[in-house]
Amino acid sequence: MIGMDEKLSFFKNGVRLDGRRPDELRPIKIEVGVLARADGSCYMEMGDNKVIAAVYGPREVHPRHLQEATRAIVRYRYNMASFSVEERKRPGPDRRSNEVSKVSREALEPVILTSYFPKSVVDVFVEVLQADAGTRTAGINAASVALADAGIPMKSLISSCAAGKVDGEIVLDPMKIEDNLGEADVPIAMTPNGDITLLQMDGRLTPEEFRKALTMAKAGCEQIYEIQRKVLVDRYSSMDEPESCDEVEGLSEEEI
Ligand code: ADP
Repeated sequence: MIGMDEKLSFFKNGVRLDGRRPDELRPIKIEVGVLARADGSCYMEMGDNKVIAAVYGPREVHPRHLQEATRAIVRYRYNMASFSVEERKRPGPDRRSNEVSKVSREALEPVILTSYFPKSVVDVFVEVLQADAGTRTAGINAASVALADAGIPMKSLISSCAAGKVDGEIVLDPMKIEDNLGEADVPIAMTPNGDITLLQMDGRLTPEEFRKALTMAKAGCEQIYEIQRKVLVDRYSSMDEPESCDEVEGLSEEEI
């Protein structure tokens, strides 16, 4: 336990409290297709964050007045389990989860080809099982993979991570203690081309520090993209293909 007047040092011999270099991501684990009932799903760990994303749709919109005549709508619900944080979190939506849901939807919507599915909805649910700072970025990464798993047409995947400032130094992917006691937090999301779809900033940075944080977070997103892509390629290239046309049930050879 750190006393009020004791200053915690975030670096020891140039490495962070968990042994990472300033520009290093936490370990990442991704599993695709973990939920049988969802159209697409993904379980993701980014360090001690554990999140699950489920995608349903495109499907009929309820309530109907939300329907859009020329495109699908996208709904995104971010929820933190009450057991996901140290002190029990009061269940249900609150200001923070509404904000995270909104910005996460806006981070993903630009790559979803919504005009292919008029009058329908794509529902994305993200449940945070364990939180350690960076849950919105982990949720967006998992949701992006789950959307691909659901076969939702997209221009590209979206990758997301944050950079922060601790002890006057810019660091990639801050963990909880760095986020809580640090000076700034900049979560971003982007396409593989580097187009930013989410950019938030908590705290203060000089323009130069901001540029450094952005460059670092972009490099982090590039690494995450490679992992997301590999997981999807592995999943779909390892799936058994029918050996002959006869194996496709209920269709004549001409129909196949
Ligand atoms: P993010 O998780 O995207 O970094 P915040 O910066 O708002 O979002 O939150 C940072 C961390 O603070 C969360 O990951 C979580 O560990 C913790 N936290 C957020 N909300 C609560 C809460 N209601 N109770 C306890 N801890 C929380």
